[in-house]
Amino acid sequence: MSANPAARWNCGPEHAPGVLEIDLGALAWNYRYLADLAAPANAAAVVKADGYGLGVGPVATTLAAAGCQVFFTAHLDEAIALRAILPDQTIEIGVLNGLVPNTEALYAAHSLFPVLNDLGQIEVWRRWTRKQGETDSTSHAALQIDSGMSRLGVPADELETLLAEPERLDGVNLRFLMSHMACADTPSHPLNAQQLALFGRARAALPPVEAMLAASSAALLGPDWRFDYIRPGVALFGGRPEKGRPNPMRPVVALRARILQIQNVAPGQTIGYGATYEAKSPAVVATLGVGYADGYLRSLSNSATAILRGRRIKVVGRISMDLSSFDVSAVPDAQVGDMVSLLNAEHTIDDLADQAGTIGYEILTGLGRRYRRVYRG
Ligand SMILES: *Cc1c(COP(=O)(O)O)cnc(C)c1O
Repeated sequence: MSANPAARWNCGPEHAPGVLEIDLGALAWNYRYLADLAAPANAAAVVKADGYGLGVGPVATTLAAAGCQVFFTAHLDEAIALRAILPDQTIEIGVLNGLVPNTEALYAAHSLFPVLNDLGQIEVWRRWTRKQGETDSTSHAALQIDSGMSRLGVPADELETLLAEPERLDGVNLRFLMSHMACADTPSHPLNAQQLALFGRARAALPPVEAMLAASSAALLGPDWRFDYIRPGVALFGGRPEKGRPNPMRPVVALRARILQIQNVAPGQTIGYGATYEAKSPAVVATLGVGYADGYLRSLSNSATAILRGRRIKVVGRISMDLSSFDVSAVPDAQVGDMVSLLNAEHTIDDLADQAGTIGYEILTGLGRRYRRVYRG
C-alpha cells in the first residue's frame, strides 16, 4: 500500500522534463473553506475543462469526498465522463452550456441535468419531458438567465417574455435558477448591483426554486450574492478570486522543470529566436525543457520569473515550443539537473499570469500534457 493514496492518479511520461504536482489536500481545503464561508448556502463545484486542467478524475473524486453534491461541466461529453467517475446517483451533474439539439435522451440516460439558456431550449425540454410521461428527478433542468453579460442564458428580450408568461415553464421540473456575473472580481463595478437586481426580479417572478448566482469571485462579495448555492471553479484550484486583494485560497499546483544545459554567454551574444535578448555583461544561462507547447506561454518571453535554489531567476529571450532560457548568473551553484520551480506557493498561477498578461484560469487550463503529473493526498 502506498503512503500516498492520491498517487493512484499519477500519470504522464516517465522521463518528462517537468513535474506538475497537484495537491488534492489543498483542493479539499479550498472547497471546505468556500462551503463554510457560504453556509447556510451550499457549495456546488465547477469542474469543466478537465477540472480546470488538473484532471477531472482526481479533482471530482476529491471534491465529492469533501462533501460536494452538485457539479457542473461546460459540455455534455464532459458531464457523461464525470458521471462515470461519480456514479453515486445522489450527486447531481449539470451542463452549463445548454441543450444541444437531439441530446435530450442522454441527460436521462446518464442522470444529468441541462442548463436551459433560451426560450427555445425551454420549449424543447418541456416537450421532451411531457413525452416521457411523469416528470421525475431525472428530468430536472436548471434555468439560466442572462443578467448582464450578453453571453449565455435567457437573453434580455426573451426574459421579459418569460417573466410575463411564466407558464412557459409549466411541466419543466426546475432545479435551479441561475445567472452569471461579468465583473465580480471588481467589487466596485456598477454592473454587479445591476445584475443582482435583475436576478432578484426574475427570482420573484418565476417559480420558487433554489437560486444560484455566485462563481468564485461573487462568493466573496458577501452574503447577498450567495442565495441557496454558490458555484465556484477557479478558487477551488487556488486561483485568486478578487483582483488586488490577498488570496485566501491555498495553492493547488506546483511545477518544476529540470535544467538541461548551462551556457556561459559573453557580452553581445543574443539568446533565443529573434535575438530579442542581448547580454550586456558576462552571463550564465540555463535551458529548461519546457515551452509554449507545455502551456508555458510565449507571452512569458523576457518576462517570467522562477525560483532556483531559493533565488529568483528571470526568462531571457523568447520562449520556444519545447525550451525556455533563464539567466542564472546570480545562482553560482546552479547545475545541470537542478529543478527550477516555475510555479509554487511563492510564485502562483496568478503571479505567472500577471507576467504573461493573462489570468490564472488560462495558466491552469493550459498546463501541458507532457508533464509528469504527481498527485498528493
Ligand atoms: C466557469 C463558470 C463558473 C465558475 O467560475 P469561476 O470564476 O472559475 O469560479 C461558474 N458559472 C459559470 C456559468 C461558468 O461558466
